Amino acid sequence: MLFNRKKRNPLKIADKKVVDWKYTTCGYCSTGCSLDIGLNAAGKPVATRGTAQADVNRGKLCVKGIFEHELFESSGRGAEPLMRTSIADDYHSTNWDSALDFMAEKIKHVQNEHGRDSFAVVSTGQIMTEEFYTLGKLVRGLIGTNNYDGNTTLCMASAVSGYKRSFGSDGPPGCYDDFEHTQCLLAFGSNLPEQHPIIFWRLKEALEKRHFPVIVVDPRVTMFAQFADIHLPITPGTDLVLLNSLAHVILTEGLADLSYIHAHTNGYAAFEELAKQYNPEFAEKICGIGAELIRKVARIYANADAAMSIWTMGINQSTHGSDGVAAINNLNLITGNIGKPGGTSLSITGQCNAMGTREWSSCSGLPGYRQLENPEHRTEIANFWGTDESFFPQQRGMTMTDIFPAIERGEVKGLWLVATNPMTSMPNTARIRKCLDSLDFLVVQDAYRDVETTNYAHLFLPAAVWAEKEGCFTNTERRVNLVRQVTEPHLNSKPDHWIFSNLAKRFSNSVGMNFPETTAGIFEEMKTLSKGRLLDISGMSHDLIEEKKGIQWPFSAEESTREENTKGSRLYRDGKFEFADGKAKLLALPFNDNNEAPCSEYPFWLNSGRVVEHFHTRTKTGKLGNMNKFSPTPYMEINPEAAADLGITQSEYVKLVSRRGDAVVMAQLTHRVAKNMVFIPFHFHDCVNRLTLGLLDPYSRQPAYKQNAVRIEQIDQKLASKINVEMRAF
Ligand code: SF4
Repeated sequence: MLFNRKKRNPLKIADKKVVDWKYTTCGYCSTGCSLDIGLNAAGKPVATRGTAQADVNRGKLCVKGIFEHELFESSGRGAEPLMRTSIADDYHSTNWDSALDFMAEKIKHVQNEHGRDSFAVVSTGQIMTEEFYTLGKLVRGLIGTNNYDGNTTLCMASAVSGYKRSFGSDGPPGCYDDFEHTQCLLAFGSNLPEQHPIIFWRLKEALEKRHFPVIVVDPRVTMFAQFADIHLPITPGTDLVLLNSLAHVILTEGLADLSYIHAHTNGYAAFEELAKQYNPEFAEKICGIGAELIRKVARIYANADAAMSIWTMGINQSTHGSDGVAAINNLNLITGNIGKPGGTSLSITGQCNAMGTREWSSCSGLPGYRQLENPEHRTEIANFWGTDESFFPQQRGMTMTDIFPAIERGEVKGLWLVATNPMTSMPNTARIRKCLDSLDFLVVQDAYRDVETTNYAHLFLPAAVWAEKEGCFTNTERRVNLVRQVTEPHLNSKPDHWIFSNLAKRFSNSVGMNFPETTAGIFEEMKTLSKGRLLDISGMSHDLIEEKKGIQWPFSAEESTREENTKGSRLYRDGKFEFADGKAKLLALPFNDNNEAPCSEYPFWLNSGRVVEHFHTRTKTGKLGNMNKFSPTPYMEINPEAAADLGITQSEYVKLVSRRGDAVVMAQLTHRVAKNMVFIPFHFHDCVNRLTLGLLDPYSRQPAYKQNAVRIEQIDQKLASKINVEMRAF
């Protein structure tokens, strides 16, 4: 559209003088796009393009990926290891030997004084799979604390827990190719166009060839909801009620696939009893979706030859996130929609390598989906690593969300944070600030120094970022893809696996244990450990992964010729699940309403989520010009009628108040949100998490970020703009 302009300006593409393109994989979201970084004659990264031959993105990138080469020179990077004996002192820079000596000595001191589990480790979904594996070997095999977790507890823990409870193992069963085959897509709490734009493009591409109904369940009229055939604007936190009611309709109207249920599941009788209680009229009163609409959606889903469900944080970040995931799995099991083209329950994961940590980090168990509770697994890994089996705990320790309360109680005295930023990401900022401030010893290992979390550390270890090193990521559809190193680490920063391996040498029990120097060497160890398991990667190599532009697991040497593994492989195709009897579990899941909800003092629901320009806590995207230009400041979506009632106008600053604290945001008037709800992007420091409560899911320990209550107050505009600038210091 030229909008009355007579003359169309020619499109100019700047010549970046690229002389070489290097293959790598995007380091932001879990879509897993392949991309090429263009280097100029001086070897400097100057451009990014999508890799045309890659099945995931087929040459396309979203706005974050397009500017990813700018990341290497962004501000705020760590340059040297920094240490100090007290957080009241200034940091002084040091060399790596001194930094790692100091760290090992402090860890041993804390553990000698207070016990092995008094030192905790919280990692990330951002580093390479080989690095996760190495960290797991170090933590489980040498340091020996059981309080070891990843920040994936904030985003994917409910999906993991729900998959394990339903199917006997983690591992998303479906793939993007399912869009090409499905007859119905049901999306829960997932705003694909902003969160995972290239997955959304894959869906749109499938819809252009063949229309099928798209149904979006979301309290907010998201971009995805605007695009859907049916939008179900559900009351926050009540997905389980809707899912039980869909099952009620499917069972009572004879639409279930009984032959699949009887052949491949357990627990049908109890599940049927539970579903009887959730007739649509009853469900409507709780979840806010009309009874007839529930019936209509149930019929569309059950009558489709193949139907698929996807979800993201709208399900996971809830006090019953794990139950919500299991209920989605129930829906797919009773309609026979698991493991077949277009029939699946597919969790859309968050960070670029959230899957890698689930598979190989040993956070919740031992590598390769092994369990601490299983004596055979403990023996196998101890023998393979050359460590003492009795050193392993016999059950999982605390999650990230339990580690912080344990710091408050004085049970955890030392903490190592790896590529995670809890001062922005954890609920209840004020509480987390107090926790970090009270630690005897805090190490922050990160590519970026300029986060508030670092203010409370005794040691800062500067890490290489993304394609300054080499290794693998696993994406949402179990596709292992390769990040090739395209440039050297920034100044004196080091790859995370180098830091882990060199710290390992400072523990005397490392004698006899092998820490390979290269990630390709580490990958060979993982291949051996994967043989014959659900996540078999034994047929892969770094070179083959690059050649195929990503390979889905399972992929043994025998399967290495299977075309399916580069196009779309599915788990549980034969109806055999990972429980001992090979059957999946239908779970009866009653709904208990235990969330914080609006009341007369705090009359608005507070909802949160992503915007397309930013990634997580903005440590990366907050530095990149275009991302900040498009989305520079924290804002709140508010319904125009609610705004009028409160006398709030467009772009005015307001103060939000919850039982935990307050936050200043700019008002954006939009009908995307209901009159009793506000929405704030979660990326900004000292903003939405000053307000959130974060009650925990009992199974996954994931916080309920999206079910909180707030009130809105007016604020002096000059003061607000000053606060707004201060908030953006990080
Ligand atoms: Fe990167 Fe995700 Fe964008 Fe793809 S969709 S370019 S993986 S941020």
